Amino acid sequence: TYVIAQPCIDVKDRACVAECPVDCIYEGGRTLYINPVECVDCRACEPVCPVEAIFHEDDLPQGWARYKDVNAEYFESV
Ligand code: SF4
Repeated sequence: TYVIAQPCIDVKDRACVAECPVDCIYEGGRTLYINPVECVDCRACEPVCPVEAIFHEDDLPQGWARYKDVNAEYFESV
């Protein structure tokens, strides 16, 4: 799955939302989130993010590894 990390916070550009073919990117309070159950790993969202907030879960920068769980947990709480 792809993951939205720290740069999205208080940005929420939404360019990725328009690209996602399965509409699995959702808007939360301060950031967008990718639903890991629905993501089909197409990578369409990653290059369009103006703040480079989107990474494959295996390519997350070291300091942002927790964002995999941050995204997943958002969908457990709603
Ligand atoms: Fe949507 Fe594809 Fe990005 Fe997954 S990788 S969130 S399916 S655009």
